[in-house]
This record gives sequence, C-alpha cells and structure tokens, in this order.
Amino acid sequence: MDDLIIILPCEYEAQFKYLKNEEQNEINCSVCKNHMIDVRECFEMTRNKFTIKQRELELEMNDFSIMRKDFITKKDELKLNIRKKSDDVINQIDCRREEVKLAMNKLIDDYYFDLLETIRIRTSNIESNLDQKLQEIEQYEILNIAKDSDITSKIELLTNNLDQTQKLTESLKKLLTDPNQDDKIEFYFSNNYKYNIDEMFGRIEPDSNVQYKKIGKLIGHNDFVSCFESINKDKILSGSSDKTIKLWNKTTGECLKTFYGHKDSVNTLCLINDEEFLSGSFDRTIKYWNINRKQCLKTFNVNEYYYSDFKM
Ligand SMILES: [Zn+2]
Repeated sequence: MDDLIIILPCEYEAQFKYLKNEEQNEINCSVCKNHMIDVRECFEMTRNKFTIKQRELELEMNDFSIMRKDFITKKDELKLNIRKKSDDVINQIDCRREEVKLAMNKLIDDYYFDLLETIRIRTSNIESNLDQKLQEIEQYEILNIAKDSDITSKIELLTNNLDQTQKLTESLKKLLTDPNQDDKIEFYFSNNYKYNIDEMFGRIEPDSNVQYKKIGKLIGHNDFVSCFESINKDKILSGSSDKTIKLWNKTTGECLKTFYGHKDSVNTLCLINDEEFLSGSFDRTIKYWNINRKQCLKTFNVNEYYYSDFKM
C-alpha cells in the first residue's frame, strides 16, 4: 500500500506513505511547494480512489488466497476431527448404556425387594390381629349371675352379657361372610414409579476439545506473501513478492531466518523433506535450499516466463 502512486492536485505524484498519516489535515505540497493539499480530498479524486480501491482489493484477495489454501490444506484434518469427536461421543454412549442398564436393574431389584418386605410385614400384622380375635372368641364365656345378688344387679349383668355377646356375634358374622370387611385383608400398591431416560443418560459431550483456530500473525515480509508451506508442527516457510523466503516459528510467530537470493517475487515453495526445499520465482529460476544454510545450494534456470505451482 505504501508504494502506491497518488496523483496530487498539481498533477505531480507522491507515494501513499507520505500522505496517509495526514489524512485529517491540510498539508503543504512537498513537490511543487505552491499550494496546500487536503489529503482526504486528494484520496477522493477519481483516479486516486480507483488506485487505492484496486490495491485494497489485491491485498484482500491475497489474504483470502492464503486462508483458502490453509483451509484446503486442513480440510482433511477438520473432517478427521469431526469424525474423532463423533466416535468419542459414541464410545461414551456405549459405556453409559451399560451403566444405565446396571443402574436400572438395581432400581428394579431394590423396588421389588421393598415390595416383598412390605407385604411380609402386612401379612404378619393381619395374621396377629386375626389370632387375637380368635383367641377372644374362643375364650369368651358369659359371666355367671351370683344367686344372692339383688334383682337390679342381675338385670345389669344380663344386659352387659347380652351386649358383649351381640358384639362378638356381629364380628363373627363379618369374618365368616367377608373377611376383608373387618381388617382389609388386601394387598395393593400404587404404581407411582417414575423414571426419565434423558436424565439417566445425562449430558454427553466429546472429551477431545480440538478446535481450528488462528494462532498468530507472521509479521516481517515487506510485500505480498504468495506462498507458504508447513515444515513440521513448529515451523513454517513463506515466500513473498519482496524476493525473500522466511522461516518462522509457528507458535511464537518469530522469524527464524530469511533466505536471500531471488531477484524477483517468490511464487511457489516445495518441500523435499523437513530440511530441504525448492523455491520458484518470477526471476525465472528455481532454487534449492537447506534450512540450516544461508545461501542456496543450487540454482536452476527456467526458460518459460511464467510457471505456477509445482510439486515434486
Ligand atoms: Zn503541488
């Protein structure tokens, strides 16, 4: 952007970089020194506007191409990651299924044994009540009337005996016709057992938390970055229109080395192994490098004017 040629109102030219910081101001024309320049207006002039927009588009396309290449390179890695997460969740669901089955079995068994215990206690209670009643009936005898008691006392005793006998007769009648009437000899249980399968399985999410993310910016080239290659997990090579190739530490973003030698834009890079690589340039050469050496090891001259990507 800095090297863009901007046409001044006086038809002289100036580089963008001398004007960009003055955008809010009026400055003296540093070329003809005859007039003031409103920098913002100057940038708005049709020819300049066109040049600036054109360069902005080029820069944007450059960023886009780099990211597109990165995305295409990492496409398989992304898919693999999706599959990995999916497999991980399936594994967890398989385990959870077995756990839920065991838990369900235990719940059912616990409930069943609780029911058995309740019935046992209830049966025993009813039985002992019945025994008590039987004993009462078996041992029942009316009270004898003493011969020497007066008539009033005799009537009172007779009345008591009659009442007591009537009560027991009534009770016997009930037991014989419908045993449940007296003491509910019934066994029933309300079915209020509830379960929620969603809750039993619970929340399941992948353990591996690998995500595609931007790790940093590599700052150092003076012109377009036209190509790059990952050497291994830690290092990356980039070729630029500034005629150089740079070796970077991927994690820290530090430029480890700059390879000089090409006389024009570096357009393409090709890795041979973790140390050796080739570079192609608009200077019509291919150069052979080792990342541990400063100078290129060999230069091949290419006759065709233009070539794009090449692969070994
Ligand atoms: Zn001027």
